Amino acid sequence: MIFQLVLLSTLIGHSTFKNENSSPHNVKIVFRCDDFFLEPTPLNDKIIYEFKKYKIPVSLGIIPYDTFGVPFNNLDSKRLTTLKSMIKKNEIEIMLHGYNHLNNNLNGGYFQKEFKSEFRSESFDIQFSKISRAKKTLDSLLNIDVIIFVPPFDSYDDNTLKVLDSLNFKIISSDMAGSSASKKIVYIPKTTEEIELLPSMIMKYRNDDVVIVFLFHPYLFKESENHIGYDYSQKISFTEFDSILSWVSKQSYVTSYTFTNLATAENFDCNRYNANAARYNLFISIAHKLRLFRYAVYSSVSYEKQYKFILISANLLFHIVTLLLTYYVSRFLATKMKRQIIRLFVTGLFIILIISIINYYHPMWMIINIFLLMNLVVSIIGINTGLKTVKVKRQNPILIRNREIMVFYRGLKRKMRLLLQPRF
Ligand SMILES: [Zn+2]
Repeated sequence: MIFQLVLLSTLIGHSTFKNENSSPHNVKIVFRCDDFFLEPTPLNDKIIYEFKKYKIPVSLGIIPYDTFGVPFNNLDSKRLTTLKSMIKKNEIEIMLHGYNHLNNNLNGGYFQKEFKSEFRSESFDIQFSKISRAKKTLDSLLNIDVIIFVPPFDSYDDNTLKVLDSLNFKIISSDMAGSSASKKIVYIPKTTEEIELLPSMIMKYRNDDVVIVFLFHPYLFKESENHIGYDYSQKISFTEFDSILSWVSKQSYVTSYTFTNLATAENFDCNRYNANAARYNLFISIAHKLRLFRYAVYSSVSYEKQYKFILISANLLFHIVTLLLTYYVSRFLATKMKRQIIRLFVTGLFIILIISIINYYHPMWMIINIFLLMNLVVSIIGINTGLKTVKVKRQNPILIRNREIMVFYRGLKRKMRLLLQPRF
């Protein structure tokens, strides 16, 4: 057991191993700012100039329509001209962040659990009409041809990808849960939103070949009057953000990219996207919750291939650990209380777990649930074997004692018979 845990920690530790052959610029970083409205606020101005100050490009996800379906632009001509010139100089990259970022309230999952989305579950026609209108408005306003789509709530489906293909979008940036049906689209998902972890993540992977896509919103800053999506404890002041950006700009092994430049620098096809997806491995999804094993980075395909065997073994090990854990815990409990009570308790727990798994809506729920169900099956086996062995053990001492007495008695009888037999 201890050996397995040591092995597990060694596997986790693998992620920080140095790669001797890596190039000097190893960490590629993109700053993605969602929910950017064309509003002349001091905060918006600050965000734009903050990045310019350190010569780091920033990718702005703009929402081009308001909640009433009216094009939204409150920028004065001076600001609009500045924005356009910064776009030309590659200091700012523009991304389309939906149509008006409203939740379509189309529920999903077996128990109709709510998920937020502007596009998922909508028909192709509805999605096409919204995205094409949003693109046209943004393009003509800023004199650009926007090719990056950032779905609101990081939520989309196969129809969204079909629409993006037909409108000549080249890049989608969402999270790791999305659909990956399009072969034409380049997938560069966000990898982290935790600003306080950013410097330590960059340091940790400085000798690795990784991509970090840091997502933030204008609400991240304490200066923002809006508090959507962030607890106050998660927010930072502009001064703190300034010192982080300053630090990033000084690291020789970090290169800042726009999505467009990054997409031309290396391959971001659906194979790489799927290889990085934690959804195929229960071990990784749990490790990522604990911020372990390639957490907050997007790895190269060669890395994923190299570690495929380790990841499969880790997953297997995870099931073995579950089996052993449930086995020993149930055995221990069986000595403390009645087995019927344990069975009742465990059955109740499984029913709750199964309901919550079915209820858990996710675009890739089938794959995730297969792993979870496999783990549930393993746990059931562990508990049952645990309870059964206790039963056998309880009966055995008497049986063994009886058998021993019988053997001893028979032996004694034979010896007596031999002793009493007349000798010639
Ligand atoms: Zn958003």
